[in-house]
Amino acid sequence: MESSGNETQTPSGAIGLLGIPWDEQSSFLRGPAQAPPLIREALFSEASGLRSESGTELEGKFVEAGDLPQLSGTAMMEEIERSAARLLQRNLRPLSLGGDHAITYPLLKAFHRFYPNLTILHFDAHSDLYDIFEGNRFSHACPFARIMEEGLAQRLVQLGIRTLNPHQRAQAKRFGVEIIEMKDWRDGRVFAFDTPVYISFDLDGLDPAFAPGVSHHEPGGLSTRQAIDTILTLQANVVGADIVEYNPLRDVSQITAAVCAKLAKEIAAKMLAADNNK
Ligand code: MN
Ligand code: MN
Repeated sequence: MESSGNETQTPSGAIGLLGIPWDEQSSFLRGPAQAPPLIREALFSEASGLRSESGTELEGKFVEAGDLPQLSGTAMMEEIERSAARLLQRNLRPLSLGGDHAITYPLLKAFHRFYPNLTILHFDAHSDLYDIFEGNRFSHACPFARIMEEGLAQRLVQLGIRTLNPHQRAQAKRFGVEIIEMKDWRDGRVFAFDTPVYISFDLDGLDPAFAPGVSHHEPGGLSTRQAIDTILTLQANVVGADIVEYNPLRDVSQITAAVCAKLAKEIAAKMLAADNNK
């Protein structure tokens, strides 16, 4: 465990950085378990300043919670939930790095206890609403079915989606999920929420041309610019976020790690600005 600053001086509402090295629930390729140190390396690299495009200085705003141990199954899900709850208890805004999308369900179990009326803003090529996938209810294809059936979020808004099948459309209808399919995307839309917001960012929501380091290459996605603009213009109190599905084994010249770092900075700045734009 290392800290980016003296914890007693940490402002309340600072970012709690948590690495989650877990890809056991991936259906196709493994790799996202190796993501946390590579995203951190890109985030704190001297190649790029530690500030957002909006001008927010992020130096000293991160409280480093380290990487979780690599456990398995239920033990890992409990560890994820416990770790997020610990950060929330300290009045930090958790930002988790790495892992496949299965981590979002245990994370939301923790968030729900602190924010019962949460809205999730979810970037992804996939809706991840399968009731069960290849016999596994905790697959990375299922987290938002678990979250919605347990009422862990009040609203789920999905962006970048371009793989819906009839089962997923039925699930979306059942849970009242608001989906803006990629085919219907238009630039310039501003998202505003008056409930606390959790951002779940699956890297494959971006076009693989911008983020090749993912397990599932699904062309026709958001550009990095479109995603950043969506975050920059977002009007909401962002209380937590995850950046998932970065697969270093598929990356090219660490370009996707740099994208993860860039998104982490913009999301962190939005979290820190929450009191101003609430
Ligand atoms: Mn996903
Ligand atoms: Mn995906």
